[in-house]
Amino acid sequence: MHDSSRKVALVTGANKGIGFGIARELGKAGMIVLLGARDPTLGEEAATMLRGEKLDVCFVQLDLVRPETITAAAAGIEARFGGLDVLVNNAGIADRSDGPPGTADLSAVRRIMETNFHGTLAVTQAMLPLLRKAKAARIVNLSSGLGSLEKNSDPDWAFAAFKLMGYNASKAALNMMTVQLAYELRETTIKVNSVSPGFIATDMNEHRGTQTIEEGAAGPVRLALLPPEGPTGGFFDQAGPYPW
Ligand code: NAP
Repeated sequence: MHDSSRKVALVTGANKGIGFGIARELGKAGMIVLLGARDPTLGEEAATMLRGEKLDVCFVQLDLVRPETITAAAAGIEARFGGLDVLVNNAGIADRSDGPPGTADLSAVRRIMETNFHGTLAVTQAMLPLLRKAKAARIVNLSSGLGSLEKNSDPDWAFAAFKLMGYNASKAALNMMTVQLAYELRETTIKVNSVSPGFIATDMNEHRGTQTIEEGAAGPVRLALLPPEGPTGGFFDQAGPYPW
């Protein structure tokens, strides 16, 4: 059992955007934060910035589509901390060549699925033995309202026109991972949840989002810090339960 007095959190894709905001808030909550990034320069810069705010943050190289970086990250965390308390699966991509099913570029759809779904599943599988060593680990999957089948089925939904075959399917698949993993871990203290962070101004949407990074980090951070009586296998936004 990993029982360090301080909890250790890994946030993927945390060199910028919502992931950076989540890393900052988990650091403020007193955790040791492993700031995952695929680019060492960007990752080190981001970690240095948060250390400048007196937070305990270090960079871990993690590229969701380079399995060797995932294996090395898990081995490094095992050697240094012996376990992991929080995994926030934040890293993700959109792609300009994505689009509605009739016209979406197939290679773009594959790229998106490879990062957002297969890559996230690979990270989760690699970290699971470490999460099992924690007293009460939390896994948070950054999904999206665009991953909701119910919302996609509603022609009056404010985002109904965002029919992105690759992106939306990748988040629906991630939601399936949440449900299945929560079931698989139902006899443990580990909780697994999906979150729609909101429409957040980041590079992913060329800063057209209407909410701030801080607002986007709030839901994921709440799920990362869930108490023992908190939910598992759910989908939430900032306001509460969100339709699948
Ligand atoms: P962002 O600013 O574009 O940040 C995405 C992060 O993921 C970056 O750190 C990026 O690294 C990283 N990343 C991309 N591919 C990666 C890979 N193969 N391996 C490791 N890291 C990788 O986007 P964001 O808006 O903060 O999005 C964060 C998460 O929230 C995503 O999963 C996104 O789908 C989800 N989300 C966002 C919104 C929104 O309104 N912004 C809404 C719903 C859901 P680089 O800097 O190296 O590219």
